[in-house]
Amino acid sequence: MVYDAAIIGTGPAGVSAALTLAANNKKFLLIGSATLSDKVGRAERIANYPGLPMVTGAEMNAVFRKQLAELNIDITDRMVTGIADLGDHYGLMAGSEFYEAAAVILTTGVAAAGTLPGEADLVGRGVSYCATCDGNLYKGKTIAVICNARRFEHEAVFLSELASKVYFFPGYKDAGRIGDNVETPSARPVKMNSDHNRLTSLTLQDGSDLPVDGVFCLRDSMSLATLMPGLATEDGHIAVDRGMKTNLRGCFAAGDCTGRPYQYVKAAGEGNVAAHSVIAFLAARKAQEE
Ligand SMILES: Cc1cc2nc3c(=O)[nH]c(=O)nc-3n(C[C@H](O)[C@H](O)[C@H](O)COP(=O)(O)OP(=O)(O)OC[C@H]3O[C@@H](n4cnc5c(N)ncnc54)[C@H](O)[C@@H]3O)c2cc1C
Repeated sequence: MVYDAAIIGTGPAGVSAALTLAANNKKFLLIGSATLSDKVGRAERIANYPGLPMVTGAEMNAVFRKQLAELNIDITDRMVTGIADLGDHYGLMAGSEFYEAAAVILTTGVAAAGTLPGEADLVGRGVSYCATCDGNLYKGKTIAVICNARRFEHEAVFLSELASKVYFFPGYKDAGRIGDNVETPSARPVKMNSDHNRLTSLTLQDGSDLPVDGVFCLRDSMSLATLMPGLATEDGHIAVDRGMKTNLRGCFAAGDCTGRPYQYVKAAGEGNVAAHSVIAFLAARKAQEE
């Protein structure tokens, strides 16, 4: 089935776009964390979101979830690892699943947090963002797992059951126990190295070199160039016009990923504009077909 649209990201921008598409009876996917954005949940007190005075992030998160549930909007709890232009619509890779949609709204938040030098060039050549998709390629091998959120730990456990040795780099305190074959170096990785276009090792902060066959980057976001090749950016953000249209046909973006200020209300507002642009795009497409 080809959906009308796919929204990637479940922060305020994605939630807002979803509410507007639902109100307009569009068939769409909302793909991202089912617990919504960590950036919402983590806020201590929010003083500048109209209609929700002085809420905590957790309270705002609960209101967003209630609103989605009331409109029967399901969240597809996956990380999108690649978006391909299939001519007249887009194909989205998300774990072992593949989805198709006429339009895409990117609401992925601030992009590429923590991307290491060398990483973008080595995707598919030793660097992976998806444990279930690529884990089997590293059976019996030595891998590193860069895990930036506790909610990805189960993927690290899965990988430790396949690999012979895992170097685990959690980007947070008090990481859980992953497995007996897992070592957590004290220095952080700062660079990925390659030979003949294939990952060979990680350079650590202390200058040491850690030979590995593969690196799994388990993060909340990934490099835009990797996610969607050809997407125009400006200063690291997705370039958009006032209708939140990107340089790619049928592709829109909203929220922190389009630039500063990084604010909930700006994200929600842009999500709404992007959804309206998708509705206009779908109508124009339909008129052309008739
Ligand atoms: C501690 C803290 C306090 C804050 N306080 C305030 C405040 O008081 N007022 C204010 O206005 N703003 C505040 N902000 C800023 C606010 O959190 C952001 O501006 C807002 O969350 C941006 O919303 P967004 O939807 O654009 O992106 P995000 O909230 O970052 O959501 C993006 C979502 O997309 C998901 N995603 C990314 N890539 C993919 C992919 N490939 N596949 C699937 N999902 C993906 C991410 O996991 C994430 O859930 C605060 C931020 C922090 C960190």
